[in-house]
Amino acid sequence: MKISDFKPNNAVESVTQALEKLEKLKDYNITISTTAERALDRAEQVERGEITGRLAGVPFLAKDNFLVFGSPTTAASKMLASFNAPIQATAIEKLEAEGAICIGKTNLDSFAHGGSTENSAYGPTLNSIDKTRVAGGSSGGSAVAVALDIVPFALGTDTGGSIRQPASFNGVVGVKPTYGAVSRYGVVAMASSTDCIGCFTSNSSDAELVIDIMSGKDVSDMTTLDDFFKPCESSSKTKKIGLVKNMINDDVDEDVRQRIYNLAERLKSAGYTIEDVELPMADYAVAMYYIIVPAEISSNLARYDGVRYGYRSDSSSLAELYGRSRDEGFETENKRRILIGSYVLSSGYFDAYYQQAQRARTLLCQEFDRLFESYDVLLSPVAPTSAFKLGEKTTDPIKMYLADTMTIPASLAGLPALSVPAGNTEEGLAVGAQILGNRGRDSDLLALAKEIEALW
Ligand code: GLN
Repeated sequence: MKISDFKPNNAVESVTQALEKLEKLKDYNITISTTAERALDRAEQVERGEITGRLAGVPFLAKDNFLVFGSPTTAASKMLASFNAPIQATAIEKLEAEGAICIGKTNLDSFAHGGSTENSAYGPTLNSIDKTRVAGGSSGGSAVAVALDIVPFALGTDTGGSIRQPASFNGVVGVKPTYGAVSRYGVVAMASSTDCIGCFTSNSSDAELVIDIMSGKDVSDMTTLDDFFKPCESSSKTKKIGLVKNMINDDVDEDVRQRIYNLAERLKSAGYTIEDVELPMADYAVAMYYIIVPAEISSNLARYDGVRYGYRSDSSSLAELYGRSRDEGFETENKRRILIGSYVLSSGYFDAYYQQAQRARTLLCQEFDRLFESYDVLLSPVAPTSAFKLGEKTTDPIKMYLADTMTIPASLAGLPALSVPAGNTEEGLAVGAQILGNRGRDSDLLALAKEIEALW
């Protein structure tokens, strides 16, 4: 399903069909809520020509950590179960200004903490290819919605891989732009130094259009970049590709490795130079990430105290109200991260853990900088495996964290990275290839992804 399949004069029908399809595919548990009434109102306005633009009449879904008028924003937590958006995210505003119509909010790991959408307070989303497997995460609902052709695009957030990994598990395109490309205003914060807004689409041209519309300076988010995204027609600037060898090691499933080597061969035949490269600091990226990100999480989640907004427990004292509201409102994984974060930020441990992880992060950035002196882009798998079984990793958080090995490095360095389908395993499960570029090279990555799509 492509964005260009949608026409403004069919807006009401397009919205109605998408909502019906969602209902029909309910057992996948894709959405937490729908915004049917507002969506149909907007569709009528589009049909009357009162709303126009590059996405006029195109229905889409947003992960339920985006604030969208007309819907609750739960972040898949009990904590925000009854929270209604008083403002609207900048990304949504920009898409609406071009006539796009949000029809609902998709499932995720609670507060985006996870890699399978199993940490949701509303139950897991099922994989689009095999219902006994995970959708990936944390933006699982959005990935499955696009894979099952419910909407032509859906929004996600990617803090350590939450767009790229579910895209890979469901055979769709998933783009995490350069850090700061798209405003984070109006999106529930996870880790502010790596949170990125991006999208899922069935093809790279559509992703380019959506990112182009969403990106740009926003006075409400001081980390946003000015006028940096320029759609790019050809990948002529990309000639030399580095294949990151230590991300295709023995820990990676043979099936996945074969798909990536196969893609590398095809790119070679198409005239690209492909060379093996090493990114040694990437081996420590999971360790860095699971110190830095929980530290930021513990700070960002401090606002949910049961007093100002969100879930409030019955309590007889203020201390008990704070404690019980947080205990009952957060999921286990949220609490685990708050504990780790508070620990690594506490006096006595700050230097040993947090500071040390930040130093290592700088070394990782320097390794990337050196590689980008010689290579235009880097290629790797998105994840060590294809979609794993539901419940396979839920009892062991470390196993779940290790599944993020390949996506985390780009997040820590603020680089653009995307997942593009690279074929299927023997069982028919999807495998994604990750392309990484230097900061601001987003359009080159998308141009290369378009050429990869043409190779199959
Ligand atoms: N799986 C990673 C984590 O649990 C990434 C999450 C994300 O990008 N939101 O932190």
